[in-house]
Amino acid sequence: MWVSEEPVAPARTLPGIVGRVLPEGRSQKAGNPIRAVVTGAAGFIGSHLCDRLLADGHDVVGLDCFRDSYSRGLKEQNLAAARGSRGFSFCHLDLVEDDLSSVLDGAEVVYHLASRSGLGVSTGREFDQYIFDNVLATQRLLEALAGRPITRLVYAGSSSVYGEAEMLPTKESSVPRPLSTYGATKLAAENLVQLYGRNFGLPVTVLRYFTVYGPRQRPDMAISRFMRALIQGDEIEVNGDGEQTRDFTFVADAVEATVRSATAHVDGDVLNIGGGSRSTINDVLATLADISGTTIRPRHLPAAAADQRHAAASINLARWRLSWEPRVTLRNGLASQWDWFQQLLARELPVSRDPLTV
Ligand code: NAD
Repeated sequence: MWVSEEPVAPARTLPGIVGRVLPEGRSQKAGNPIRAVVTGAAGFIGSHLCDRLLADGHDVVGLDCFRDSYSRGLKEQNLAAARGSRGFSFCHLDLVEDDLSSVLDGAEVVYHLASRSGLGVSTGREFDQYIFDNVLATQRLLEALAGRPITRLVYAGSSSVYGEAEMLPTKESSVPRPLSTYGATKLAAENLVQLYGRNFGLPVTVLRYFTVYGPRQRPDMAISRFMRALIQGDEIEVNGDGEQTRDFTFVADAVEATVRSATAHVDGDVLNIGGGSRSTINDVLATLADISGTTIRPRHLPAAAADQRHAAASINLARWRLSWEPRVTLRNGLASQWDWFQQLLARELPVSRDPLTV
């Protein structure tokens, strides 16, 4: 069912968070730098977040264990810009296995983006990996943070917690009914984050991102796969009829919301972060054909099991609480990802025909 969104309420004023307060939703600029910790810093969104925080003049500690969900080479490239910045330090740590105390010393804001992503229902060893990187990793981080004077823990949640949502666009109050192991473990982690907020006064905010895309997108994600197939002249594999919809969110818009959520008055809140451009996969393919000047040859596969048919975010709460609005259109965002992809290929082609191979 599709229902229209209610009018947007006016922005609230910010009472403040522990001594480092700026007007609601504004990022803290140089001159008042904070020490931020970003988990999953070598990943797609985490690396963009590091770059943005560094550009704003903050000191950033990036943490990642280079999980083999995709190639370490790509993750190193994600980190390259941050590594060139004086305010950045990197810790090669596993959230589950390693001692986190020294990384967290002096931390004011912690952005927890480390995770294992994927589709479907997993069993056996693969299931354990979701428990490990989504549930245990989050619990270990929370344990290490309890009692520390941080001003905010921002948790990167997912629209996958909604599963086959009962209402579109989906509000945060919708009952989560995940369809995948990933969605179920992201929901479990989200609940743990809220539990530490309620029991130990940890200032936490949960963001539920909807399909993020743009430069550095994970190679397993649909748009990355489509671009790789286009470049290689292959047929593009599309799950189902291509009429399934997603609320595509450009990475800079997701990062802007993430940065704002560290200072806005959103303690204990859960916020949807969507791009405001719900589109079908067929729309994406048509736009890609236009941008690349290439003919698309789709090959339709059976619809993926445990995959949502439609996803669309109600983003009024984020608009209101963060004074935030997604800015990048699907066309401009895809063009930006396409440019990045071409640059990546130009660098990698002499070595490998398929630089994004996991
Ligand atoms: P990504 O896989 O590119 O990045 C995650 C990083 O976490 C990886 O570099 C991995 O090595 C690291 N990591 C995993 N387990 C770890 C552990 N135990 N210790 C330390 N590091 C560990 O993923 P992404 O697409 O950038 O997603 C970032 C976050 O946003 C995730 O929490 C994901 O669930 C969430 N999210 C992403 C999307 C999207 O469309 N990309 C949508 C919804 C939610």
